[in-house]
Amino acid sequence: VVRVRFAPSPTGHLHLGGFRTALYNYLWAKSQGPEPGRFVLRIEDTDQSRLVPGAAEKIEHILEWTGLVPDESPLKGGDFGPYVQSQRLHLYSRAVEQMLASGHAYRCFCTERRLELMKKECVRLRVSHKYDRRCLELSQSEIQEKLSQGVPHTVRLKIRPFPESFSDLIYGDLSFNVFELEGDPIILKSDGFPTYHLANVVDDHWMNITHVLRGVEWQISTPKHLLLYEALGWIPPKFAHLPLIVNSDGTKMSKRQNDIQVEHYKDQGFYPEAVMNFATLFGGGYEDKEHTTDIALRKTELVSKFRLERIGTKPSRMELQRLADFNRTILKEKLSQDSSRLSLVQDLRLLLRDVAVNEGEISDDYLLRVMEWATDRIFLLKELVGDDFIYIWKPTLNVDSIEVERAVLEDTLAYFKQDPEPDKIAQALKKIAKKQGIKFPALMKSLRLILSGSKEGAPIKETIDILGIPECIQRLDLSIK
Ligand code: GLU
Repeated sequence: VVRVRFAPSPTGHLHLGGFRTALYNYLWAKSQGPEPGRFVLRIEDTDQSRLVPGAAEKIEHILEWTGLVPDESPLKGGDFGPYVQSQRLHLYSRAVEQMLASGHAYRCFCTERRLELMKKECVRLRVSHKYDRRCLELSQSEIQEKLSQGVPHTVRLKIRPFPESFSDLIYGDLSFNVFELEGDPIILKSDGFPTYHLANVVDDHWMNITHVLRGVEWQISTPKHLLLYEALGWIPPKFAHLPLIVNSDGTKMSKRQNDIQVEHYKDQGFYPEAVMNFATLFGGGYEDKEHTTDIALRKTELVSKFRLERIGTKPSRMELQRLADFNRTILKEKLSQDSSRLSLVQDLRLLLRDVAVNEGEISDDYLLRVMEWATDRIFLLKELVGDDFIYIWKPTLNVDSIEVERAVLEDTLAYFKQDPEPDKIAQALKKIAKKQGIKFPALMKSLRLILSGSKEGAPIKETIDILGIPECIQRLDLSIK
């Protein structure tokens, strides 16, 4: 069985980039047959200085909200737990002992200061600052002496000084000279915690992970990981890296930007399917025609149509407008299906209650009519109770800006009281304007203000239509008083 994992560090909220990684792992695992693969959530909390309390739970909950429910996780448990790295320290120590014994790793007693100075010197000479392997030369007795004195130390992996190649399921054959870049990497820090590389490899091994799908920024670490597998005598998983995501202006996406947190979109009222479809735009995996914002695939379809071979390698820009477009598509779809219309009505009722509109007096049919009328104008249901549409539910009179005389409004009111046919209203209002000696647009502008409280908005005919003649009469009445 295929087993994949999403391995975030609990340093904050889940952002759209992290979510994309989780999604592709999920899609890949669940698209496997006959038995769908398992999707594991593992929390990588070995960098104790960056921990944010509560973040791990939040990540798991928001994943569940999106629909990517892990099969095994910290909260759910599973056969390969614990699923939090700080609870697995014994496994990392065991791996380190094994590599020290086999000569694949060595203790490094170099002080921070020495490493810093060495780095500065390398910068000055414009050469890459790789570790000079001084501690590799230490004799057993020197090592024992330092250990008995309690000298702080790290453990480094001894690696080969030539390029390491591997095959990426998405990028093809690649090769990196890890040694030239930084020398022997540290695998155990002086605080006794493993580095990301070691913990990641040890866990992927013991959790039986078969495929690692992660952001391309980790690609450079992969040869290091492969060297660790080799040193430990383990079979590595297959690696697939996902293309870079950049901001819409092409700049690097920062994980700390609040507006790309999944939670933010949940709170705004976006649908999880919209977030999911949106995340596939910066990765691919689908036929091009399935890849527009006019079609929102359901989770099951996203799984069944997913093809790893179709994942792209080019960096893609994150255009948040397209998330909104997907949400509108889904909203329209829900409105068109009997099975979801009622739940939309309920959602709208809740929203109306929040803004103190007595929704109990409004019929389901009317709510549906408003939603149908508005779908091309909104992206989120919530907008129907926001500034632009609140006038539908309660008068938002803006008397001060009305420019026409009271007599004009009285004529207009009298006309509305005759219960006119919608198609004839414009014609009649023209006559009223002429009779009163004012310009027709001035009358329309005032009428719009009276009905919707705003100078801009939907065509006046539609506004009258959606409010209904009796409501228009009431608002005209109010404006005259
Ligand atoms: N903990 C790493 C992160 O925060 C995981 C990277 C990986 O998937 O190997 O993204």
